[in-house]
Amino acid sequence: MADDIPFDKNLALTPDTVDEVAPGVRRVMANNPGPFTFKGTMSYIVGRGKVAIIDPGPDDPAHVAALLDAVRSETVTHIFVTHTHRDHSPATPAVKHATGAIVYAEGPHRAARPLHIGEHNPLDSSGDRDFVPDVRLKDGDVVKGDGWTIEAVATPGHTANHMAYALKEQNLLFAGDHVMGWATSIVAPPDGAMSDYMASLQKLAKRGEELYLPGHGPAIRDAKRFVNYYILHRKAREASILHRLGKSESDIPSIVRAIYIGIDPRLTGAAGMSTLAHLEDLVARGLVETDGAPSIEGTYRLAA
Ligand SMILES: [Zn+2]
Repeated sequence: MADDIPFDKNLALTPDTVDEVAPGVRRVMANNPGPFTFKGTMSYIVGRGKVAIIDPGPDDPAHVAALLDAVRSETVTHIFVTHTHRDHSPATPAVKHATGAIVYAEGPHRAARPLHIGEHNPLDSSGDRDFVPDVRLKDGDVVKGDGWTIEAVATPGHTANHMAYALKEQNLLFAGDHVMGWATSIVAPPDGAMSDYMASLQKLAKRGEELYLPGHGPAIRDAKRFVNYYILHRKAREASILHRLGKSESDIPSIVRAIYIGIDPRLTGAAGMSTLAHLEDLVARGLVETDGAPSIEGTYRLAA
C-alpha cells in the first residue's frame, strides 16, 4: 500500500559534504543513516554571507564541524529548528556556541496529550528534552534575514511542536519530518497525534508551495501533488483499519499483520504506533470503541 505514493529513494549524497539543492539553499546531510532517518538528517543553509541554518542535526561533532566548515567565511545569524527529535535539534547548542546565532522554534519538546494512567511513553528516548529556543515562533510568524524571508508554518502531528518553514523568495518549504520524499512520516502517540497530522497535511495542500526540502531524503519537486498522495495514503490506512475491524474486534498486532504487508521488520513497532494513532483518532470521532483510553495493548471494535 505504501507504493501508492511516488517515493524517490535515489539520493546520491555523501554525508557531511555541501550540496546546493536550490538557488541560495545548501544542504549538508548528517552521517546517521537508519530505518527512520533514511541516509541521514538534512541540515539546510539559507542565503549567502549572512545565513540561516535549518535543523543543525544530531549530536555528532563531525556533522557540526562539516556544517561550520560549510559556512566558514560567512555569518550564521539564525538557526531554525523544525522539531525536537534527537536527529534534528541536539547539535543546536554547539552551532549556536560557535556562531552566536539566535535559535528559533515553536518550543521545547512536549507530548501531544498527557499520558494516560499507567502509560509509559515509548518515545521518551527519541525526544531532545534539553532543547530551548531563544525565540518561540507561532504559526504565520515571519523572520527576515539578509536576502531571505522565512514564514513559520505550524505543522503539529509528527510532534506537537513541529514547524515547517516557508522560504518566501522561492515558493519552497522546509518540510521537516512532516512530509518526506522517501517514506511516510511517523505519527506515534503520545508525542504525535493523527488528527493534528491530518489537519497539518490539509493545510499544506492548500498553501501550494511547489518544492519541499524535507528533513530526510531527496527534494520533493511536485510537492502539491505529493501532499495529496500523502493524504490519500492516510485515508486508505484508516479505511483498511475500519475494514479489518468490520470483520471482528481486533488488537493492534493483528491489525498491523493484516494491513502492513511486506513491512521492514525493523518498522513493525512504528507501524503499531501509527495504527494506535489512527485508532485514537477513530475513537475520538466515535467510529471505533475500546475499553478505557486507547492504548497499544487495547482491543478495538467498530462503534455500535
Ligand atoms: Zn522526527
